[in-house]
Amino acid sequence: MPDGSRPRPIPMAVPPGKRMRQARMTFSGMSSTRSGGAGDSETRARPNEKQIYTEELWNDSTATVLHFESDGWYTDISARLKDEQIPVAAFDLDGTLIRNQSGAKFPTALDDYAPWSSSVIPKLKELHEKGFAIVIFSNQGGVNPKRLKGVPGMKHRVEGIAEMLGVPLIAYLAMGRNRFRKPCIGMWELLATRLGGVENIDLSKSFYVGDAAGRPEKKALKRKADFSDSDLKFALNLPIEFYTPDAYFEGKPMEQGSIDFVPRKFLTLDAYNVGEPSNAEEAVKYLKELLKEDDVVSMIEKGFSVGDAKPDTQTFVMISGAPATGKTTFAKRFLASYGYKWINMDSMGTLSKCVKAARAALEEGKSVVVDNTNGIAKTRTRYLDLARERDEKVSKKMPKICLCMDTPRDLSNHLNVVREITTSGVISRIPHVAVNGYYKRLVEPNPDEGFDAVLKVGFKAHFASEHDKNIFARYT
Ligand SMILES: [Mg+2]
Repeated sequence: MPDGSRPRPIPMAVPPGKRMRQARMTFSGMSSTRSGGAGDSETRARPNEKQIYTEELWNDSTATVLHFESDGWYTDISARLKDEQIPVAAFDLDGTLIRNQSGAKFPTALDDYAPWSSSVIPKLKELHEKGFAIVIFSNQGGVNPKRLKGVPGMKHRVEGIAEMLGVPLIAYLAMGRNRFRKPCIGMWELLATRLGGVENIDLSKSFYVGDAAGRPEKKALKRKADFSDSDLKFALNLPIEFYTPDAYFEGKPMEQGSIDFVPRKFLTLDAYNVGEPSNAEEAVKYLKELLKEDDVVSMIEKGFSVGDAKPDTQTFVMISGAPATGKTTFAKRFLASYGYKWINMDSMGTLSKCVKAARAALEEGKSVVVDNTNGIAKTRTRYLDLARERDEKVSKKMPKICLCMDTPRDLSNHLNVVREITTSGVISRIPHVAVNGYYKRLVEPNPDEGFDAVLKVGFKAHFASEHDKNIFARYT
């Protein structure tokens, strides 16, 4: 039995350019039927091309996704890759295929498991005989990937479960909080690359069964609310048919919860058309669309400088908002590009370095944009004092503007994950605890602090590519 680690590298017959195409493959807008285009046949896996993982995807996943394949699975699948799409019967693990034999909420021992219902094993056998690939996608919470002790234990458990279920299968276990964790589709992308590309999967016949369906509490049945809706969202993100274990294994009526946050609705905002400004004039035009207050836009505009020239009026802008609300994108697109000195904690390291850089820029007569969360009055005052010092020195009052990113909390949580996916994990998500900390300490900026204007900036979707837009549209 393979040890669940990386599949043996076997040279690929696919040219490097094609491999990159696979790595960046997107699932959105995908037709359920094979396109049959001449170009596709080159990227499709043939039985002699066993190594399908793209390096990029694998490297990203290797630390946090456990991958298990039971004996015989590969031979079975690859024989069919030649001229058929494979339907995937996908399952969540805990609470779907298995329950804890002990009846405890969490397993009491590594081998504490039993089939979820008596029809699990016969159903899987039937699916296998019908030619489905049986694939498990499981989020694992309690096992810290850094504690090596936990990983071999988990592998042992999955091997035992596969043996009990008695069919060839593949299992992916997301061990970390990243883009491989459901409802994100990273594990599904690993499967697709494993099968030689999304075009080898028959989405129209594929389906996913999971118990995290967002179902509300049902007192009459003495049933608690589902702890999550991540399984339902995972299926919708692919998109493939979704069933609860009750519906799939027990023939009960299909029931699913409603999803509170639907990212797609933000795509219909008119401002999707707000593009990348190519000159100062365009930047001002876009700012007017975003800010809807002409006088504030003109104050900002007076702080623009072209080349070495000093701005008309030195201007101080502070951006305030929760993590992942687009502060840096805004600051760079509209201000830093036009001569504003960009002050940012992530790149400068500490508050005192930021303050020092801001002071130096102001003394040089430059306009400044402070791009941090700035949710605390004390921090804001520290910067405002610098601007006031400068005012006294030159006996001229510069405009001081605060722009607050007006992004609902559920949307910024979404953007936090989206950024991680669009950067292929280079920018990892801000942990919950940091986001909570921001909201807990937040004191909304107020003109009394010394701002000439405090303005809300509404969320406007803007995407670098169609690919990024599709990522945004998925549930997180
Ligand atoms: Mg579950």
